Order: sequence, then C-alpha cells, then structure tokens
Amino acid sequence: MKTLLHEMSWMEAKEYFRKSDVAVLPVGSNEQHGPQNPLGTDHLIAKAIAEETAKRAEVVCLPVVPFGVSAHHRQFWGTIYVSPATFKSYVKEVCLALNYYGTWKIVIVNGHGGNIPALTELARELREKGIFVSVFQWWEASGKLLPSLFQPEERQHASAEETSMNLALHPQMVNMDKAVDEEPRRHPAQFHGIILPLDTVDVTSFGVLGKSTTASAEKGRKVFEAVVNELVKHVNQLKMMRIEDLTAKPKV
Ligand SMILES: [Zn+2]
Repeated sequence: MKTLLHEMSWMEAKEYFRKSDVAVLPVGSNEQHGPQNPLGTDHLIAKAIAEETAKRAEVVCLPVVPFGVSAHHRQFWGTIYVSPATFKSYVKEVCLALNYYGTWKIVIVNGHGGNIPALTELARELREKGIFVSVFQWWEASGKLLPSLFQPEERQHASAEETSMNLALHPQMVNMDKAVDEEPRRHPAQFHGIILPLDTVDVTSFGVLGKSTTASAEKGRKVFEAVVNELVKHVNQLKMMRIEDLTAKPKV
C-alpha cells in the first residue's frame, strides 16, 4: 500500500480516506544544529520517523512542515523561522483540510521542542471541533524507552542523541570532524525558578548544548527503532478507538 500522500493520485487518496480516519503529519524546524549537523535536522528526523511509522501501521503520511518556532536560534545563519501564531494557524489549517476528507485522528510527529506550546494549543482547539490530534516527541519517548543509552548532557539540542539520529538516517549530511562539546554558559541573571527570554547565542558559541562528540550511527539506529515501535503502537491504538471515545466529554 502507498502511504505517502504526495505520491498518491487523487483517486488513490479517495480510496484511502474513505476507509481510514487516521493520518500522520510530521512537523519540524529549519535551524542551526551546531557545526556538524544540517539545518534540517529537526524536520528530517520527524519526516523519517513519520514515514516509517506510516508504512508499518499502514496509514497515510503527509509531507513534512519544515519551518517552525525557532527565532531563538536566528543569530546562527540559515535559521528560517516563523512566529508561534503563524505556525499554529498553518498546522491547524492543514489538519482542517485533512478533516474535510474524513480524517478525525491526526498524529503529529514533532521534531522540535520550540513547537510544543503551539501544537498543544491547536490540539486542544481541534478537540473542541471533534478532531483528535496527538503530538509525539521522539526524544521524550527515547529518554523513557532507552534511559541509559545517553547521559543527560548528550540529550540536549544538537548534542549526541540528535547527532546520532542524523548519523543513522542521513550520514552524508553530518561532519563529525566539526563536532564540539559545549557546556552552556550560565547567564548572570539566571537563578532557580526564573524564566529568561534568552537566545541560544546567549549561552553557547557554536550552538551545541552539551556533548556531541560521542554520537554514533549505531546508537541512532537503536533510538529510531525504539521510537518508531512506540509510535506504531499509539497509531494502532487510535485506529481501533472510536472517535466518540476520544473527543471532549460533555459537562457532568
Ligand atoms: Zn533539534
């Protein structure tokens, strides 16, 4: 079965949407990921996880939304970002267009932490319209599924875990000779309980938060397999559930 929407004809899409109410939508960002990783890291990883999950669960996968909420990386060249409001309404309208064809359950595979507040808001808004949207963060899943594979300093932005995923999925885009380890600098106004509106450039020189030199393709493959397995279970669960049991409850 074809699972990539952009490779289907409209007649093949009609056949799919008439029998299934589930779809997968990858979203990410195009932002700096240190000297060794491609700018596309977040959207490329989200796309790979979403496409493999869709294939195994036999559901349709949409093309990836590559631009996200990443103004905090803009001082590093090539970071192309949109505002939270623009991102939220764009992704929401994509979901509504899907719903026009009878898709009531949408699994968003998110590759970038900065997108989470906007995605959470739109998922809540769409549930009010009877559309159930779930949002998957692969790094949160891997932290639970493979707790000892990486140290905490290897699980941050552009550090070993993300670099390992790139090495597993598209090694030709990674230049490990340029990999650095950076301990984020403490801002003088930073104390416990304080949120500061900082950019990545305020705390790093190269854009890597933590340790990236320990990345390996083998570890990346382990993460990819573990998170895809987990996501397939979630998609299969949604396939079995009735939409009536997923939408907002009436008042008691
Ligand atoms: Zn990233």
